[in-house]
Amino acid sequence: MNLFFSREFTATNSARVTGQEHLHLSRVLRLREGDLILINDLEGAVYNAVIHSIEKEATICTVKEKLRHFNEPQIPVILALAIMKNPGKMDWVIEKGTELGMSAFQPLLTVRTVPSSVKTARLRNLAETAVKQCLRSIVPTIHEALKLDQALLSVGKHRLLACHEGADAACTPERLIFDTRPVAVFVGPEGGFAEEEIKVFREHRADIVSLGPRRLRGETAAVAVLTRVIAQIESQCPVRIVPASAHTDSERINQL
Ligand code: SAH
Repeated sequence: MNLFFSREFTATNSARVTGQEHLHLSRVLRLREGDLILINDLEGAVYNAVIHSIEKEATICTVKEKLRHFNEPQIPVILALAIMKNPGKMDWVIEKGTELGMSAFQPLLTVRTVPSSVKTARLRNLAETAVKQCLRSIVPTIHEALKLDQALLSVGKHRLLACHEGADAACTPERLIFDTRPVAVFVGPEGGFAEEEIKVFREHRADIVSLGPRRLRGETAAVAVLTRVIAQIESQCPVRIVPASAHTDSERINQL
């Protein structure tokens, strides 16, 4: 199954896939009339659709069904990660974090962060590409960088988790019980969070979380905590039911 982005829906259950998405569909993947695709409207919904016709400028599709929260964790999980010197590592985190189900990415400036610019437009493109790969409804929001105190204000109503090597070894993601609040997970810079920052996290009632006895690099910690937290969320609240057709690879429908 392949997913394409389109905002061009008509009242008659028809959608047009245009531009790069149309070229990808028709020239690269060489899909044909009758093939089943998913259309993501970039507003949080995914639709089951059948290709009706492939024209020069656009692929015309018949929309079959709207799939709400398709492949999304029950609770949004924001990753707040201290900016990394090497932009390639941020790219990697966006790609893997999107595949794992993060809902948003907040670059962080902390006491020990070496300030460097974050190419948010580039990260947004990477998030879109990863959504196509992993078939999600939501393209994670990429926020502009914030200082830790501002970032904490922006997630005032969230359940807060701060990853810290000095955390109680028993406080692992698997020990946490999640409620309906969205979750914000914080991962520090190369030098770690400063003690005063850990104090601020505690004042905000964050859980100070251990990812095990080994010292992980920031990007590893980010992927590890997202994997473990989202697995917990998905096991505590079963994933919503999605029509079987969305998961099959039966690409062709005979009658249109
Ligand atoms: N304090 C470090 C390394 C920090 S690693 C040093 O002295 O060099 C970067 C970030 O990854 C940390 O701030 C923390 O958020 C996370 N992290 C790394 N290993 C971790 C672990 N075992 N448990 C929890 N968080 C960890």
